[in-house]
Amino acid sequence: MDLLKLIKKFPNQKSCIQYLEEKRWDNRVKCPTCFSDEVIRVEKENRYKCYSCKRSFSVLKGTIFENTKLPLQKWFIAIYLVMDAKKGISSLQLSRHLKVNKDTALLIQRRIRTVMKESHILKGIIEIDEAYVGANLDKKSTRIRSKSMQHGITNRTPILGMYQREGKLVLKVINKTWAEEIRPIMDMSINPNSVIVSDGLSVYRHAKDKYTDHVVMNHKKQKYNEGIYNTSTIEGFWAMLKRSVIGTYHHISVKHLQEYIDELSFKFNYRKSRNAFNLLIEKSLNLQIPTDG
Ligand SMILES: [Zn+2]
Repeated sequence: MDLLKLIKKFPNQKSCIQYLEEKRWDNRVKCPTCFSDEVIRVEKENRYKCYSCKRSFSVLKGTIFENTKLPLQKWFIAIYLVMDAKKGISSLQLSRHLKVNKDTALLIQRRIRTVMKESHILKGIIEIDEAYVGANLDKKSTRIRSKSMQHGITNRTPILGMYQREGKLVLKVINKTWAEEIRPIMDMSINPNSVIVSDGLSVYRHAKDKYTDHVVMNHKKQKYNEGIYNTSTIEGFWAMLKRSVIGTYHHISVKHLQEYIDELSFKFNYRKSRNAFNLLIEKSLNLQIPTDG
C-alpha cells in the first residue's frame, strides 16, 4: 500500500475506527477488561459499554492510540512513514509531515517503537558482532578493543548484534564489550544448538564449548569467509546503522538508543513483509502475529 492509497482508504476517524475494530474483534466485540461479550455500542462516541463489569471502552483501549487527541488518520500516516523510512525518520521530519508539534511527533514515534520491541531466540548459524554508536562508528581493531575492555574505557556506546542466517536480527545496547555482559545476553538469545560465527574478540572464546561450534573470522588475517560461514550480513547492517545514525539522528541519547535500534531491527526483520503497515497495526492491537515473519 502506498501513502495515497492509505489516505484514500482511511479518509476520516470513522474509517480508521472501523478498520481497528475489524482487526481487533472481527465483529465479536469483547470487553478488554473482563473479556465478556455482553456489550452494547454507545453509538455517538465509538464506544461500548460492558454489562458484566459496567465499564465503557473503545477499540483504542490498551493500544498505542489510547488517550491521544490526535486523529487516527495521522497515526496511520505516522506508522506508514516510520515503516517506510528504512534508515529512520527524525521526529522533526515527522512533525512537519503530520503538521503536529515536535513533542507530539516524538510521543507518536516512541509509542510506535514500543510496538517494534520484540524478543527472539535464535537458532542455526548465528553471526555475532559489535558496533559502536558515538562520534565515530568505525570499528576499532580487535587489539584496541581488547585493550579498552581491560581498562574499561568506552566513550562510545557499544551495541551487540546477533543475526540468525535466514532468520531474525537481535540488537542489544551494552555498557562494555566484556564477557560478563555479552555472554549472558548470548545465553538468553541463542539456542545452544547453534554455530556461532564471530571475529577474534576474546569474549566469544567460550562459544566453542557452549554451542555446537564456533567459527572465527580472523579479519586481521584478511579472513572473511570460511565455507558457508561469514559475518557479512551483520556487517552490512552496521554499515546501514552508521548511515542512519549520522544521516538522520544527529543526537541519540544512550537512554533512548535501545528503542531506536529496536525500530531498525524490526524494520530489518520484516523487510520482506508485503504489508508492513498491517503488521504494525496488528501488533499495536496486541494481536497474535507469526513471529517467523
Ligand atoms: Zn467488562
